[in-house]
Amino acid sequence: MRCMYVNCDSNPEYILQFEGLQVMLCRKHYSKLLNTLNKIAIRYKKACLSEDILVKKIRGRVRFVSKKPIRKKR
Ligand SMILES: [Zn+2]
Repeated sequence: MRCMYVNCDSNPEYILQFEGLQVMLCRKHYSKLLNTLNKIAIRYKKACLSEDILVKKIRGRVRFVSKKPIRKKR
């Protein structure tokens, strides 16, 4: 088993159900996802995993993309 995030081979510690897909993530990528949701929540007052995050599937791996524009950290 390994984290399903692209280019990551860490051991998964979290399992998310996403659009009927089971996504296993390591601690780092789970926090990354939470961080993205957090930024959306700060900017738009609310954030929802299924509504605001797009899961791009790339050769059996995943990448999370915010559907809404969020400011990048400087
Ligand atoms: Zn990972």
